Amino acid sequence: MVSLWRFISLKRFEKEKEHFSTEKWRRIFLAGVILSALTWAVTPCMFFISGDFTYQTITAIFIAGLSSGAMSSLLPLLRELRIFLTIILVPLILQFILQGTSIHYELAAIISLYLLLLLYISKIFNKNYVDSIKSQLLYQIKLDELSRSEQKFETIFKGVPIGIFFYDNNFIIKEVNQEFVYFLEAPRNFLTGLDLNTIKDKRILPTLQAALEGIQGFYEGEYKTLFAKKEIWINMTTSPLRDISGEIIGAIGIVSDITQRVLAQQHIEHQANYDTLTDIPNRMNLLKDINKEILRFKRHGRIFGIIFLDLDHFKNINDSLGHNIGDELLKQTAKRLLDAVRAEDVVARIGGDEFVILAPDLSNNEKIAATHLEYIALKIHESLNMVFEVEGYNLNISSSIGITLISHDTQDADDLLKHADIAMYQSKKEGRNTTRFYQSEMDNWVKRRLEIENELRQAAQNGEFEIHYQPIVEFATSEIAGAEALLRWKSPKLGEIFPDEFIPIAEESGLIFGIGEWVLKNAVEQFTQWQKRFPNITTFRKIAVNVSSYQFNNKDFLEQIEKIIKSSDIKANNLELELTESIIVKDIDSVRDKMLHLRELGVNLSIDDFGTGYSSLSYLKKLPFTTLKIDKSFTHDIQDDVDDKELISTIITIAKNFNLEVVIEGIETYEQYFFANEKRSKYLQGYYCSRPIDKESFSLMLASSNGICDKLF
Ligand code: C2E
Ligand code: CA
Ligand code: CA
Repeated sequence: MVSLWRFISLKRFEKEKEHFSTEKWRRIFLAGVILSALTWAVTPCMFFISGDFTYQTITAIFIAGLSSGAMSSLLPLLRELRIFLTIILVPLILQFILQGTSIHYELAAIISLYLLLLLYISKIFNKNYVDSIKSQLLYQIKLDELSRSEQKFETIFKGVPIGIFFYDNNFIIKEVNQEFVYFLEAPRNFLTGLDLNTIKDKRILPTLQAALEGIQGFYEGEYKTLFAKKEIWINMTTSPLRDISGEIIGAIGIVSDITQRVLAQQHIEHQANYDTLTDIPNRMNLLKDINKEILRFKRHGRIFGIIFLDLDHFKNINDSLGHNIGDELLKQTAKRLLDAVRAEDVVARIGGDEFVILAPDLSNNEKIAATHLEYIALKIHESLNMVFEVEGYNLNISSSIGITLISHDTQDADDLLKHADIAMYQSKKEGRNTTRFYQSEMDNWVKRRLEIENELRQAAQNGEFEIHYQPIVEFATSEIAGAEALLRWKSPKLGEIFPDEFIPIAEESGLIFGIGEWVLKNAVEQFTQWQKRFPNITTFRKIAVNVSSYQFNNKDFLEQIEKIIKSSDIKANNLELELTESIIVKDIDSVRDKMLHLRELGVNLSIDDFGTGYSSLSYLKKLPFTTLKIDKSFTHDIQDDVDDKELISTIITIAKNFNLEVVIEGIETYEQYFFANEKRSKYLQGYYCSRPIDKESFSLMLASSNGICDKLF
């Protein structure tokens, strides 16, 4: 019954542990122990038959067995064990004493000793047992804690794009996180246990070593991965790991893959330093290099040179054939330049069609350095003079080159570029496709440009301008059919300056708008006066005025022309505007619209200096010109240059096809006149008939010859 009750108690305990407190359960258990001990304690009382030693011995052995069994089953609970032992052994001892013989006394004494011994050692056993359970539990708790912290470690470092690895004093990797596995593209089991001494890329070893020596290591740079064999950029920090006593037991490495960042940075840097179209250094990059060379010059006296190159008439190609072709041409130019120069020379593009070559480390001797540079320039000219093939077009280009050398007078890189630029300008002025060295006198030329610009500002108000007129004559009849107005400027300070010099300056400074308007007004006014004065010279029908492309492209230009025609007595078809190909700045369509508008008014449009540009024929058809003026450079050698003769014939034939009237310019001699006449052009213009003359002289000429160019008879 006791056992049954205890069994039920056990089941209840297992099922409803929370029902009672631990204390209460323990009391219930204690009750069970006492009850079962009392039950067993009955044995010595019931089966202990006086005088029968055999029974007595069996009882004693039985009780001893029970007690040693209790020693193990109740060992965890010392109090219960001791109570149990006392309850079952004390009645036995009493029974032996009650027998009253000496042997029974002795046995009672031995069992008493046995009880004491059990009570004593139970304490020791119990302590050991409890300790071992305790340490087992503790171990389990620690184990749980550990796995929890590992989990924490994983969760903290999983989402972070940082690779983390631990390695010991022998350079063996002990543990890695997921990101580390991920960006090294190697399996985890390859990485853990890896001996870092065996990696191929030794660049990171000092950083790994540093941490093992107790200092923080840092590495940022390229790294070639061992497993995936990938080139990546990494940023790595290592720190020592120490145990409680401070001893270094290994290190932790924190790595991130910064490849993307570095690539982006490199890209940005590249963009800042290189020209996007040609991928050669840009101005900023060039200046850096020049400054480096200046330092070298100051320290070692090594002379270097700057070659400034500008393509001739590039704008024409861009405007007429389109930007794609222009861009491609620039790319090819960059390539040719790179091929033409030495490996150590820097080829940079600093503007639209402007290239600069920095030729470093030439010599300590100025003359030798200059010879080197001249040779490089020669090679460049040769290389660029070869035909370019761009999208089916065969393009001939040339370049104007300016060169300057570093000297002790030079201030800085900007100075050098400015000098080379000035020299380049000079070679443009001297007929293009040439090279000029910078000379300090060129600064004078720059000064002169500035002076001209300054003087030009007041020239119109001060009445310094005058217009000269040159007759345009019909071949067949020698009649003066018209006059071209050519501007003359007599500056009180600078003397007489020719339009070839001051017109470009007026254009660049914007003064051309005022000047151009002045010429138009006055030329038209003068022409109407002549018409009134010589009503019988009916063949004199045309006044031709040069219009700069800047003027033409000004948005007010149409209005200006309309106003001039309205406010004077001229008939629109008596006015001819001379334009050059450079009017096509952006799109040919807007130019065409403007020209059509002028044609609607009745104004004639001639294309001036025909043959000096590029695209001439391609847009001749598209634009509504009425007249074509063949440039005087063709006329110059007309009597002995077969090619020029051919060209003129071809141009005239094409012009006739397009219903254009042709004027041949620059006829100076009888021979030229004779040859040109043969070509069946309609008009001529040139010194042979008359130089450009002032209005009084022109009036005299009209009056005396009755409108005939008498030279031609
Ligand atoms: P252009 O339009 O080609 O003018 C003809 C130039 O050739 C004039 O030079 C004239 O004097 C010159 N010339 C005429 N016949 C002969 C000849 O037989 N032989 C030689 N060698 N030359 C001859 P000029 O007056 O010095 O003008 C030069 C340029 O300046 C003109 O070239 C024109 O482009 C520009 N220009 C002149 N006046 C004006 C103007 O009022 N406005 C604008 N925008 N440009 C002007
Ligand atoms: Ca002209
Ligand atoms: Ca001309």
